[in-house]
Amino acid sequence: MPSLLSSFSDLIFPHRCPFCDSICKEPVCLGCTDAVRFISPPLCDICGIPFKSDAVKSHTCGECMKKKRHFSWARGVLIYNDASAKAIHRFKYNKDTTFSKALGSIISRYPALEGFDVIIPVPLHIDRLRERGFNQSLLLARAVGKRHMIPVDPFALKRTRWTEPQVNLSGKERKINVKGAFEVQGNVRGRSVLLIDDVYTTGATVGECSKVLRKGGAKEVCVLTLARTAEL
Ligand SMILES: [Zn+2]
Ligand SMILES: [Zn+2]
Repeated sequence: MPSLLSSFSDLIFPHRCPFCDSICKEPVCLGCTDAVRFISPPLCDICGIPFKSDAVKSHTCGECMKKKRHFSWARGVLIYNDASAKAIHRFKYNKDTTFSKALGSIISRYPALEGFDVIIPVPLHIDRLRERGFNQSLLLARAVGKRHMIPVDPFALKRTRWTEPQVNLSGKERKINVKGAFEVQGNVRGRSVLLIDDVYTTGATVGECSKVLRKGGAKEVCVLTLARTAEL
């Protein structure tokens, strides 16, 4: 009796809004719906940055015209603002699976993920993994994989070098910081890869991972993140 089982588990582990911790039925509670912003078009068809004006259609942004991107497209589900930053921070640093379930359910609602052979989460360095106890990107990847029925390979990509947290670095410094930090371990040859991370800021980390995956023979790499900055 799955409905009885699930209502029993709802009693013990009720769904909590990942943004304010209140018990609610929806992925985002009513009180947080104004603060939590979902990304919607118009946006850059490559890096997914949302455009401010509703009048324009989705097109390629100036940055993507200038830069070579190693991924075909990148999309974020939420705008990275105070509300989503707070929720992601709690998710990463509190070993609480309530948040991982709630945020996993939000990222996995991203529609139309078809034609991917494998989902690969951005890996953590082994020392960081030991310190944190889990890889937040892997938890998100599992939620997406389950909903869209795409296999997840957490070992295809390895972080071979310890890197400083990107948070206080400039765009250029971020790129240098992650350069050469990843290595392909699994067989990605000829495969369409969906790469998953928690936040897209300048795209340095997912860009470096995409480059390495393409060099390793991946046919295509697309990126999905839970949140994305709306400003460059
Ligand atoms: Zn809330
Ligand atoms: Zn762009």
